[in-house]
Amino acid sequence: MAEKQKKIIKTLKIDVDKCNGCRACEVICSAFHASPKYSSNNPARSRIRIIRDPHRDIYVPVYAGEYTVAECAGRDKYTIDGKEYDECSFCRASCPSREEFKEPDSGLPLKCDMCEGEDEPLCVKWCLVDALQVEEREEDVSEDEESEQQDLDIGLESLADKYGMDKIVDALARMNEKD
Ligand code: SF4
Ligand code: SF4
Repeated sequence: MAEKQKKIIKTLKIDVDKCNGCRACEVICSAFHASPKYSSNNPARSRIRIIRDPHRDIYVPVYAGEYTVAECAGRDKYTIDGKEYDECSFCRASCPSREEFKEPDSGLPLKCDMCEGEDEPLCVKWCLVDALQVEEREEDVSEDEESEQQDLDIGLESLADKYGMDKIVDALARMNEKD
């Protein structure tokens, strides 16, 4: 049986009712991930996006999750407290059917890293109305490296098929640039 080890899982807890659509979270996330760090800000590079419709008082912060090769076949519409939310409003995927969570120059998928190395996720810190909070929990994870490696291989293969290996190598080089 595979050995278990402890891992801290972080999630963002989002209170849609508190979000006022100020987009400070988009600004700080994109600035933190700019190269060099804080040299620019561009919400299109942010790993958190606000799904906004001011006429309907809809502001939904969504942070980037997994890359998906194919768009999903079935979609949902939600009505909550009398507000109808569009399809995909709550979805975190970097998906072919929408613009969010793609690096604008290369088209490569973006994914939230919980601001790796920071004491607190920066979007949480910058949200003055506490619409974003971080939660941590400890989970047992299996050391089944073989299956993780398989997942990684499949992910890289599909990225390479779609974007070409050159772009991926270029993006990795940019990510590893010293700030
Ligand atoms: S900083 Fe907070 S209030 Fe402003 S858009 Fe982001 S989640 Fe909403
Ligand atoms: S936790 Fe950090 S990387 Fe993730 S969306 Fe917020 S600012 Fe961006």
